[in-house]
Amino acid sequence: MQKDTLVFDLIRKELDRQRHGIELIASENFTSLQVMQAMGTVPTNKYAEGYPGKRYYGGCEVVDEIETLAIDRLKKVFNASWANVQPHSGASANAAVFLAVMKPGEKFLGLDLSMGGHLTHGSPANFSGKTYEALHYGVTKDGIVDYEQLEAKARAEKPKMIICGASAYSRDWDYKRIRAVADEIGAVVFADIAHPAGLIATGLLNDPFDHCHIVSSTTHKTLRGPRGGIIMLRHDFENPWGIKDPKGNLRTMSQLLDLAVFPGSQGGPLEHVIAAKAVAFGEILSEDFTAYGKQVIANAQAMATAFNNRGYQLISNGTDNHLMLIDLRNKNLTGKKAQETLDKAHITLNKNAVPFDDKSPFVTSGIRVGVPAITTRGMNEAHMETVVSFIDEVLMNADDENKVAAVKQEVNTFMQQFPLYPELG
Ligand SMILES: *Cc1c(COP(=O)(O)O)cnc(C)c1O
Repeated sequence: MQKDTLVFDLIRKELDRQRHGIELIASENFTSLQVMQAMGTVPTNKYAEGYPGKRYYGGCEVVDEIETLAIDRLKKVFNASWANVQPHSGASANAAVFLAVMKPGEKFLGLDLSMGGHLTHGSPANFSGKTYEALHYGVTKDGIVDYEQLEAKARAEKPKMIICGASAYSRDWDYKRIRAVADEIGAVVFADIAHPAGLIATGLLNDPFDHCHIVSSTTHKTLRGPRGGIIMLRHDFENPWGIKDPKGNLRTMSQLLDLAVFPGSQGGPLEHVIAAKAVAFGEILSEDFTAYGKQVIANAQAMATAFNNRGYQLISNGTDNHLMLIDLRNKNLTGKKAQETLDKAHITLNKNAVPFDDKSPFVTSGIRVGVPAITTRGMNEAHMETVVSFIDEVLMNADDENKVAAVKQEVNTFMQQFPLYPELG
């Protein structure tokens, strides 16, 4: 068969784009070559509905070994006693958690989307907001989770589940405090660690597992694996809420979650992606990954200082993790304008609402900046100053096409010292 050059030329073009630009989208990263290679392999041909040892199809003995290896490695990464590696994405993992815990119409409490929460934490446009009654807590004027408001809403509304976790929040979480109020009202605590999971895996942030009943994550953000989702428990438990499976039987939480992933919300698992997850979890268990996590935090700190020194306003005045949220109002710029102009200089990030934003979600007053991807490229603290100087040069000359084009040239030259997949030629 003839090579489909149309598609492969586009993939090559995307590789060149990734090589030449500065990637600051906080949810992105670059997997290892091995992780990518595992994804493009023959388990993609296999149907394996069910779980290892309990499949609905024949010929699953090898994919059983692959999936079991992924589960065992993941349990080691987070010191968990149970894990499900089948969710196709973070949103799919969260859908399964909702399905396992909540009946339609029941209440849950999550971080407001305009203050850093995720779509699946109750957006009116998402299944979570359409199927369940979504209640929200926010952040204080200082940009820190408003735990008092969370506690007051929890006591007043008695939600079935409280979600902690965010997509645009630069501070660590007080999981213990959330668990305390949840225990008062008998609520399930669900931590969605999609963003900081890699920093939690390396022990650099608070550990949610001791305080939260259920933990979900993506595998492609700070965990640096293939695109996908996971769900974990440190301790399985006979669920004290009397939640029953569709046949009316009482089940443990792990059984409810397994049933909610398959057959509850997904069909056949992506065993080639699960193979790539196993490779990534193996990498996370190495010392190199611990060094990576430390460098991510060091880079985020250095970048925050560099922005501060140039008069940029960081929400909460800084960061504990891999990202920062910048309010551009004192620079007379919108998030939209900043994103679009930086794109022209091959610096990629996203516009983002800041807490109490007066602009629409399409315009926004802020940008979200993350360092996981550039840290994987090999940058250290000293490079953060250079990156921020490029950003500042572009934003302060946003209407000067020549200046923006000149920065693009500098960015492309700068990135040549950080090779990406040199094996691919
Ligand atoms: C990214 C993210 C998700 C969803 O992940 P997808 O793989 O894009 O579906 C869920 N929750 C949070 C907090 C996230 O940041």
